[in-house]
Amino acid sequence: YGQTTRLYTEEDPLIILTSDTLKQTLHNSSTAWLVQFYSSWCGHCIQYSPTWKALAGDVRDWIQAIRIGVLDCAHEKNFDICKEFSIHFYPTFRYFKAHGTTFDVGKTYKGADRELQTVRQLMVNFLQNHTRQDRPAPCPPLEPSGTEDILSLMGWKSEHYTAVIIEDGDSYVGREVILDLMPFERVAVKRALTSEKRLLEKLGITVAPAAYLFHPNGTHSIMDVYVLHMPSDRVPVVAVTNVFSFRSKVYMVDLESGLHYLLRVELATHKTLEGEELKTFKDFVTVVAKLFPGRQSVVKLLETLLEWLVSLPLDKIPYDAILDLANNKMRISGLYLSQRVQWVGCQGSSTALRGYPCSLWTLFHVLTVQAASRPDALANTALEEDPLAVLQTMRRYIGTFFGCSECGRHFEAMAQESMSQVKSLEKAVLWLWRKHNQVNTRLAGSMSEDPMFPKTQWPTPDLCPACHEEQEGLHVWNEGMVLTFLKQHYGTANISPKYTS
Ligand code: FAD
Repeated sequence: YGQTTRLYTEEDPLIILTSDTLKQTLHNSSTAWLVQFYSSWCGHCIQYSPTWKALAGDVRDWIQAIRIGVLDCAHEKNFDICKEFSIHFYPTFRYFKAHGTTFDVGKTYKGADRELQTVRQLMVNFLQNHTRQDRPAPCPPLEPSGTEDILSLMGWKSEHYTAVIIEDGDSYVGREVILDLMPFERVAVKRALTSEKRLLEKLGITVAPAAYLFHPNGTHSIMDVYVLHMPSDRVPVVAVTNVFSFRSKVYMVDLESGLHYLLRVELATHKTLEGEELKTFKDFVTVVAKLFPGRQSVVKLLETLLEWLVSLPLDKIPYDAILDLANNKMRISGLYLSQRVQWVGCQGSSTALRGYPCSLWTLFHVLTVQAASRPDALANTALEEDPLAVLQTMRRYIGTFFGCSECGRHFEAMAQESMSQVKSLEKAVLWLWRKHNQVNTRLAGSMSEDPMFPKTQWPTPDLCPACHEEQEGLHVWNEGMVLTFLKQHYGTANISPKYTS
């Protein structure tokens, strides 16, 4: 039973069960369980393991209601327990209700379809099959609410938001949003069915699925429906979830979408790059190729682009050549940056809000943090040993290419005022944080503010209590703690790969 046959490791977002732990884990568990009994020598099980891991990652936020486990029946130690549970074929999926007894050997899922989405919906159905008494306590009701129940929320002040998903009876969007938002105390989610005609009429809803929001202050509004009509079945759930999830993660999919937009849309409006523009572009590619903590295929693409740029003796490059390289030539060797824009952490409550500028801020915060944690990363490049390398590159990128020229002028004014005082890589992390807050102050209440994401001084006390102090009755930042927080928040370990395809 060597390392090579281990299909799952402790780093996967699931629980590895054994004969020693299975029964005691399931007995009277506060959550339901879905356990895959597999065999590490079975080809199907090996091929299926990436899907199971992706599923476990996908439903990570459901953990207070249902958990995902695996047990390897090919492991000698587990022979007896697999016999006791009558596991005859691999993989066998068994689900176990919350609060089960020691004698419970679970129910087998017999369907042939083991796609992620199908199994996720199976989990929803299974949770819904609990009775009121044996349902995992933190799991909200998954049944639809009636018209009166929803209408009674109108005009009431509350501690939290209530989102109501209005959908057809066979839609899973509402139930998945309910489960996805379980960790977030500031929002409750209910679902109602399109068959409740009076409700639809009262709320002015004409298409489903739709989402309606009751604010803590007693007001209510329909949520932008485009959010609910995106192509993938999971996107509406993610979109609604992210309007509320209180932002403690950074998402790789935002960074990749930002890079895609920057390289294929924003820069592509320039027919050729030459002189200062070309230099700015080269420095930008250098910084991302060396510091972007991304997936291998993306980093390789950036590195290949950099090599190509460095090797070209030209002082003028048609941008089409760069696009051709990124879109066609590199694709052949498997180097690939998604062609899709999908926002998760940067999802706004309407199309015009957040998105790209949010991803750009996020990208540069990530890059300053990477530079501070890997001081040698830019060795042997034109930007070697310059604590200002990332900031200067950002400044020139924003000034030269960023579509919002007004933003560029403001940023340049801030840079002229104080950027030269930055003498270390850590001070660069803090400088960008301070300036971003200055922008937040300036934009509070402006048209570009998403009402669901107010422009506040960041990190707020709920994200980092230790960052905030009081001196003689006045608020002050504890900059040491802010630095620690920024390094954690924008550090590699906090960048979630969720939703990257
Ligand atoms: P953003 O401000 O984009 O922030 C993204 C995320 O970063 C937040 O959700 C939060 O998690 C985190 N964050 C917030 N504050 C900080 C901080 N201080 N340090 C670290 N992380 C933080 N818009 C204008 O209308 N006028 C302008 O002049 C303007 N100037 C801009 C200049 C630059 C360089 C950039 C990149 C953008 C500028 N924008 C400007 C756009 C604007 O700043 C926002 O990006 C946009 O309104 C989207 O806002 P958001 O709510 O997604 O949060």
